[in-house]
Amino acid sequence: MRGIMMDQPLLISSVLEYAAKYHGTTEIVSQTVEGPVHRYGYAEAQARAKKLARALAALGIGEGDRVGTLAWNGFRHYELYYGVSGMGAVCHMINPRLFPGQISYIVDHAGDSLIFADTTFVPLLEEIGTAGVVVVMTDEDHMPDTSLPCVHCYEALLASQDDDYEWPRLDENAASSMCYSSGTTGNPKGVLYSHRSTVLHAWASAVPDMLGLSAKDSVMPAVPMFHVNAWGLPYAATMVGAKLVLPGARMDGESLHRLIENERVTLSAGVPTVWLGLLDYMERTDKTVESLERCVIGGSATPRAMSVEMEEKHGVRVLHAWGMTEMSPLGTVNTAKHGMEDETSEQRYDRQVKQGRPCYGVDMEIVDDEGRKLPWDGQAFGELKVRGYWVCEGYYGGEGDSHDAEGWFSTGDVSTIDADGYMQVTDRSKDVIKSGGEWISSIDLENIAVGHPGVFEAAVIGVRHPKWDERPLLVVVRNEGSEVTAEELLSCYEGKVASWWIPDDVAFVDELPHTATGKLLKMELREKFADYELPS
Ligand code: AMP
Repeated sequence: MRGIMMDQPLLISSVLEYAAKYHGTTEIVSQTVEGPVHRYGYAEAQARAKKLARALAALGIGEGDRVGTLAWNGFRHYELYYGVSGMGAVCHMINPRLFPGQISYIVDHAGDSLIFADTTFVPLLEEIGTAGVVVVMTDEDHMPDTSLPCVHCYEALLASQDDDYEWPRLDENAASSMCYSSGTTGNPKGVLYSHRSTVLHAWASAVPDMLGLSAKDSVMPAVPMFHVNAWGLPYAATMVGAKLVLPGARMDGESLHRLIENERVTLSAGVPTVWLGLLDYMERTDKTVESLERCVIGGSATPRAMSVEMEEKHGVRVLHAWGMTEMSPLGTVNTAKHGMEDETSEQRYDRQVKQGRPCYGVDMEIVDDEGRKLPWDGQAFGELKVRGYWVCEGYYGGEGDSHDAEGWFSTGDVSTIDADGYMQVTDRSKDVIKSGGEWISSIDLENIAVGHPGVFEAAVIGVRHPKWDERPLLVVVRNEGSEVTAEELLSCYEGKVASWWIPDDVAFVDELPHTATGKLLKMELREKFADYELPS
């Protein structure tokens, strides 16, 4: 039919094109790895992203090729977000906090054609023995000596290109970027985002009932750009023409406070551990954050006390958010509804403990063990399922079995939904532990423990920790006659897993709880050890 609306694909490049044209001098400020703070406007960012696109083509990168990044939050990483996806390749953000063996697995599995790395990560690439092309994200003066066989300098590559480049008109359903989720059982699994899902997610996250972003904001993602696209903020802030502040490698309280003050940050986002660091710094130094209006807290549950302290001591409104790598990540945000105007602050803090409600674009249900829908009464709890425009259809390479026949994705979270549609996570059915925003596989830790001759059975559960939110506790039934000690068991982990994965303690028990079919009842175990005091 003719005469209907224009058919314009939803492309990531169009987001930067818009910001460059209408907000060309609005700044992107980066705390660089090299030291100084770097600043430029969206117009210059686009010019450099275009040079990068040309440089990628010159290196033989074409549509659909995967390009890895190992980088902090900074302007060159931002240029990769747009330059790689914009020219039709897939920007694969690699989590450098994973164990080197897992990083090698991910790079191979994704089939990365080349890797862009901050200088910080060159030793890591040397350790895993990367044979392919590596582009070091720095200038010629800061190029490190390296044993890597094939290395380029980012700034030299850009200097050899001009910015006379038209973004190609790609299929909006083509893959644009990729992150691996380690929040599942087994090997990390690849989640491929599309141009369309990324643009729709950015659009939706900017609406008032989600993060409420505007061109008046100064937005600082205090969540790494290798974690689900820094929760989509590098796209959403660009889409509205907000100032963007990228904090580099340092997300400690003092560094974040300095940037918030200097760059008049109005909205920031991160996991509870990061905010704990900032609150602690402000408490110790008797400081506050004048400009900060809203603070998005997600990745783990926001404690009520954190919402109270943020608001009452510092005048910052907390936006409790929930999401997943598989959801780009935004699923829900806890914002008020019409009719809640008369809420007292105590009532609001109570409400803010919940993870919130979805906006248009995400649909959710809770189901029982037989897959039957449960009522939305705030009491019944079951597996949370989601579907929507920015929820993955499956994992890269068809791995995992995470979707039902109607296309709903099983989140592995157990939750309630109340009559107003506010969802609250009550437990987790997946065998993983989240510590300071990063995943630890309980199954991997259990397999290592049962390899010890003194162990009959082992379970690893997450127990509350004041700083890291959760830490692993190894619960062990010894073999008859065995007197294996906690120290002996914990020493088994050295060299086999990242040091921060090693359980904080071992609890010896006579038996572990099981279902009738012999499955470990982790929920019962978590309840039993709910008040367990970890050694400090
Ligand atoms: P990731 O894919 O690493 O972003 O982790 C997603 C998972 O983190 C979710 O499935 C939840 O288990 C957990 N999560 C994220 N946000 C929250 C939250 N606000 N409260 C509790 N758990 C959360």
